[in-house]
Amino acid sequence: MPELPDVEGFRGVMERCAAGRRVDDVEVRDAGVLRGVSARRLRRELRGRRFGTPWRHGKQLVTPSDGPALVWHFGMTGELLCRTPDAAVEAHDRVLITLDDGRQLRYRDQRKLQGVRLAADEAAVERMLADLGPDAQELDRSRFLRLMAGRRGGIKSALTDQSLLAGLGNLLADEILWRARVRPDRPVRDLGDDELRRVHAAMGRVLRSSVRAGRVPDRRGWLTGRRDDAAPVCPRCGRPLASGRTAGRRTVWCEHCQS
Ligand SMILES: [Zn+2]
Repeated sequence: MPELPDVEGFRGVMERCAAGRRVDDVEVRDAGVLRGVSARRLRRELRGRRFGTPWRHGKQLVTPSDGPALVWHFGMTGELLCRTPDAAVEAHDRVLITLDDGRQLRYRDQRKLQGVRLAADEAAVERMLADLGPDAQELDRSRFLRLMAGRRGGIKSALTDQSLLAGLGNLLADEILWRARVRPDRPVRDLGDDELRRVHAAMGRVLRSSVRAGRVPDRRGWLTGRRDDAAPVCPRCGRPLASGRTAGRRTVWCEHCQS
């Protein structure tokens, strides 16, 4: 599932492929990924427009143009690709945007849980993103501590609550808490300042490495590299990892290393 680092990677694809390019044509092969806009209107509003520099907030990607903006949310399986028009179109390529240099931006998405919205102007973009907290990558320590102060519920639920801070999903939250040696079910209000500082520091390190890799890397030294093993063990202490569920998602942690 695309989290902040994946979407940052898609931002790079978008920037290299489309920034400064004019839209020659838009082909919607499956309108199931359009949110609040018809295929006909998307095409009409975008043709002839020139794309600006894309930017990301949390897991959302915004592509401005000299007309409306596109706001992308990749759901569970979405991705952006830059292709030449002669490259074979795959079954899950839902929207093809042909650019004035002949290249094609393709939105591929198997499950179609989210997709693309059209925002008339900057104010419309802001309204679409209004329910999101600050971007996790931009969050300095003092602001992080202020966000967590007085927060109810467990630390993992807090980290993945997009209205509190935007960008972290299931894999990142587990990885960060394993690095910080904090159990995912610990109530936020029971955490000391030192523990919250460790969580913030781990978040910064995990995000930097993941953004460089374009995803949460499944290296053997990372929890993410072990969690899907048949009998997963902690990369730090070698003991079996524990697993449970948080808000419907699988949570993995080490009983020995995390307290
Ligand atoms: Zn351990």
